Amino acid sequence: MLILNILSCRKATMLAAKKDQIGLSFLESLQLKIHMLVCSVCRAASRHIKIIEQAAQHAAERIFDSPVSSEHKLSDQAKETMKTALRAAGKSL
Ligand SMILES: [Zn+2]
Repeated sequence: MLILNILSCRKATMLAAKKDQIGLSFLESLQLKIHMLVCSVCRAASRHIKIIEQAAQHAAERIFDSPVSSEHKLSDQAKETMKTALRAAGKSL
């Protein structure tokens, strides 16, 4: 049964990135939650990534003395390119 397949850590990492960028299907979300329940390494990595993201956000706000302006954000086209690459990478795992 596909739902009971335990993801590899690599696939879980890809799904975690996809979740933040474009969201997950119900099945992907369930698979990621199951993996996080059983894998202490990915749980720790996830916490560390969140800390790094928050630190980067705070640093950017200090550097630019305001929330990140649109001039420093990805364009919609760049976001679509990343989404397409994430989807393609997710299919190849
Ligand atoms: Zn893992």
